[in-house]
Amino acid sequence: MKNSFVLRGDVAYSLSPKEWRTVPGGYLVCVEGRSAGVFETLPEQYTSLPVLDFSGKLIVPGLIDLHAHAPQYTYRALGMDLELLDWLNIHTFPAEARYADLDFAGAAYDRFVEDLRRSPTTRACLFATSHTDATLLLMEKLERSGLITQVGKVNMDRNCDSPAREADARTSLSETVRWLDGCGSFHRTTPILTPRFIPSCTDELMEGLGKLQRERGLPVQSHLSENFGEIAWVQELCPWSSCYGDAYDHFGLFGGENCPTVMAHCVHSGAEERALMKERGVFIAHCPESNTNLSSGIAPVRAFLTEGLRVGLGSDVAGGAQLSIFKAMALAVQVSKLRWRLTDQELAPLTAAEAFWLGTAGGGAFFGKVGSFEPGYELDALVLDDTRLSGPHNHTVSKRLEQMIYLSESADVTAKFVAGQRLF
Ligand SMILES: [Zn+2]
Repeated sequence: MKNSFVLRGDVAYSLSPKEWRTVPGGYLVCVEGRSAGVFETLPEQYTSLPVLDFSGKLIVPGLIDLHAHAPQYTYRALGMDLELLDWLNIHTFPAEARYADLDFAGAAYDRFVEDLRRSPTTRACLFATSHTDATLLLMEKLERSGLITQVGKVNMDRNCDSPAREADARTSLSETVRWLDGCGSFHRTTPILTPRFIPSCTDELMEGLGKLQRERGLPVQSHLSENFGEIAWVQELCPWSSCYGDAYDHFGLFGGENCPTVMAHCVHSGAEERALMKERGVFIAHCPESNTNLSSGIAPVRAFLTEGLRVGLGSDVAGGAQLSIFKAMALAVQVSKLRWRLTDQELAPLTAAEAFWLGTAGGGAFFGKVGSFEPGYELDALVLDDTRLSGPHNHTVSKRLEQMIYLSESADVTAKFVAGQRLF
């Protein structure tokens, strides 16, 4: 049987947002790319499968990055003393314009894809730039990496002086069709419609994208309610909208049964917007590092969880400087504590178990049954070598996982499996 094997080691995964299960010296069984469960002793029917022995190492689900910008990786950690709209104009738009040059794009994307492949991330939703050919080049490289990703050619036809902006709605839409037609042969790398955000897209462009979405049943990703200046701007540009989310919904680009949608940030989403997200099953990509760097604020993740919204984590490279979703987990806990301390004692801080769930099963649900080792889940797994942290204390698996959330580095990932396929 293809992609069938057993991983032996110290296994940990989420059972629910509040609880993780640990099995020291356990057996994680993969049958045809899916988990058949985690066992303390190997059941008889699996004893014929090859066993990969990672005794003494942690085995956890692969991490899910629901929001990152591949072209921004080259200038991560620059301009982190600015707010969003200035940062976009000074750093992002001039840098993204360079991806018209395929030699530049190839070199930049080689670095990004290799670092993502070595990172704890197994699946990601990625923005490219507005350039069709460079986006296809990124997708080719991702396809070869073995990662599973959804990638979007960015649409933007207004409010930007840089050549990263497309000439008009018609050009943007015809290039989008050319991009969609060009990526049909990929299996692990699939297209996701990517209007940059409402201020970058004319009504004509949004109408065209809505039509394409319905014709081709595509998923959608964008940004939502990240920053006060941005929200006020959307209200000016779309005076008919009742909230920012309604501006996407108006064009049919805001979730629903046939339109899987992930929106980054939602820092300042009010009750009406949150109710609409819940009704439409819109996923929220919580990006705590970016929200801190660009002084956007602290998203009320506790409220999202209590209200039953769908939420995972994003690195938002390069609003966030770090690719690691372990880093995003740690920051999600940290900023939730600040929010609780400084502004809102009603919303209890997140726990480590909740942050781990957000970065695995929470975000994984956007990709299907992904992000856990419960039977039936696609098997994305990381083997983590934490011996550099070990000592006389002999910590439990649970404590070792907590330490990894705060202290892990890419080099700690010593083996990685995506949908049952070993990457390294
Ligand atoms: Zn973003």
